[in-house]
Amino acid sequence: MKITMKTPIVELDGDEMTRILWQKIKEKLILPFVDLQSVYFDLGLPNREITKDAVTHEAADAIKKYGVGVKCATITPNAARMTEYNLSQMWKSPNGTIRSQLDGTVFRAPIMVKGLKVLMPTWTQPIVIARHAYGDVYSGVEGYVPEGGKVSLVFPDGSEKTVFEFKGPGIVQSMHNTDKSIKSFARSCMNYALDVKKDLWFNAKDTISKIYDHRFKDIFNEIYETEYKEKFEKAGITYFYTLIDDAVSRIMKSNGGMIWACKNYDGDVMSDMVATVFGSLAMMTSVLVSPDGKYEYEAAHGTVTRHYYKYLKGEETSTNPVATIYAWTGALRKRGELDNLPDLISFADRLENACVETIMSGVMTKDLVANFDGEAKAVTSDEFLDAIASRV
Ligand code: NAP
Ligand code: MG
Repeated sequence: MKITMKTPIVELDGDEMTRILWQKIKEKLILPFVDLQSVYFDLGLPNREITKDAVTHEAADAIKKYGVGVKCATITPNAARMTEYNLSQMWKSPNGTIRSQLDGTVFRAPIMVKGLKVLMPTWTQPIVIARHAYGDVYSGVEGYVPEGGKVSLVFPDGSEKTVFEFKGPGIVQSMHNTDKSIKSFARSCMNYALDVKKDLWFNAKDTISKIYDHRFKDIFNEIYETEYKEKFEKAGITYFYTLIDDAVSRIMKSNGGMIWACKNYDGDVMSDMVATVFGSLAMMTSVLVSPDGKYEYEAAHGTVTRHYYKYLKGEETSTNPVATIYAWTGALRKRGELDNLPDLISFADRLENACVETIMSGVMTKDLVANFDGEAKAVTSDEFLDAIASRV
């Protein structure tokens, strides 16, 4: 008998190689075991063009309504894609659209498998990065001052602060953030920490930036004290604030296992470092969490275009489906938790274990072979999925 569900998952289909894998994952690993209920949205670029991108907005609304979504990787159009897909407009990144509609934060977590090398041997547990994807230098205003002169900030009350009196050419930059966005970020991080029962670290440079970075520190602290302290204590986890440089040094010396919440630029830099240490992009999952507890799961990688062109020529590819499978297990497990369906939760666990055990047995896609400590056999995506299915 198949496992039944109570509430549908919002399913967001995508593009290219990941769209091919999406179908196979459902066929081989989900549908034989689960009586899947999903509300389907086709976010593939051709359908975004046909619907004038309305489908992306509808999908985001559905995630708000149902609470849990799973997303396939999608093309973010650029000039070359405009021609390739004959687009009428350079549609915005679906991830950007959904993130702004849900006001969410993205958490990136590596999938660790015994035998797959981690460049930092002391990091025995995954480090999850949460990047504040709003404001700061990413929406900064900057300028070149060619001949010197005074640059100042003017505030709404008319008061003025001198940034610098230039005696010669120089550069200047200003940036902003909002209490609202920082609060959403803090709540998303704290909800996620409670969810996965891991310690939460946050860092800024409040000693130097006594108003800007200090505001981040204060908001996090206030939200923690008033809304989350008791829940964290009950869950046996901690919230820890320290300076960014101190955090970097402590994390390098740690065994991992924490959620590392970072300001926008810190998160940009640190997530690349962490992803590199844990190996393949194909083994990195990603979940968007809104401050009011809506979830969208996906793989961190893109649509793997290079493999898709090979596939179109009729070649077999060895594209790694693991992060996309984990997007499905993440969504199914969350649905199981929300709807109190222990069978669905244990199915998600079983499917993840089947992935890990398959790799541990030496059967894996090509991208992992060089990283594996032991005898490894590279197989095609289909063979890999079949090997996983036989273990579920
Ligand atoms: P990508 O799809 O992540 O692929 C880059 C390279 O990384 C691949 O060519 C492949 O290397 C390797 N790789 C990534 N995922 C893999 C997997 N599952 N299995 C095996 N190898 C994997 O990035 P991209 O080529 O820069 O972007 C392609 C498209 O994806 C773009 O249109 C972009 O807009 C979109 N994108 C979407 C998302 C998203 O929806 N979240 C995120 C990023 C990019 P080899 O070729 O060396 O094997
Ligand atoms: Mg980066």
